[in-house]
Amino acid sequence: MANYKLTHIDLQAPRTELHDLLNLTGMELSFNNLPAGGAVPFVHKHKENEELYLVLAGSGTLFIDGEKLPIKAGDAFRIDPAGCRSLQAGPEGLTQICIQAKAGSLESFTMGDGQLVSDGPQPEWVKKG
Ligand code: ZN
Repeated sequence: MANYKLTHIDLQAPRTELHDLLNLTGMELSFNNLPAGGAVPFVHKHKENEELYLVLAGSGTLFIDGEKLPIKAGDAFRIDPAGCRSLQAGPEGLTQICIQAKAGSLESFTMGDGQLVSDGPQPEWVKKG
């Protein structure tokens, strides 16, 4: 069984959820496009999952716990599970990625969890040491 799964998504689609497409087990990632002036038509919170939003293009408004904050491309924000949130796109639309994972579940990351592999197959761009 392969140690990976590859998919391809339509970057113009309104919303794509990768959990089922990639059999994700520790996170959900959605890629979202709101058209100009479009909005998420509800406010929601989560039971256990925090969310990281990364705005890739456009601008808009983050509604969070009754507050409204302007957001734009390059902004990244994390929301606690209990945060009551919604999004509205500005005049140029809003493209964002949302990553959802269980709050408090990450024990190590980057090279705290990664391990360099020097035995076995290597691509040509890795210099033999
Ligand atoms: Zn959510």
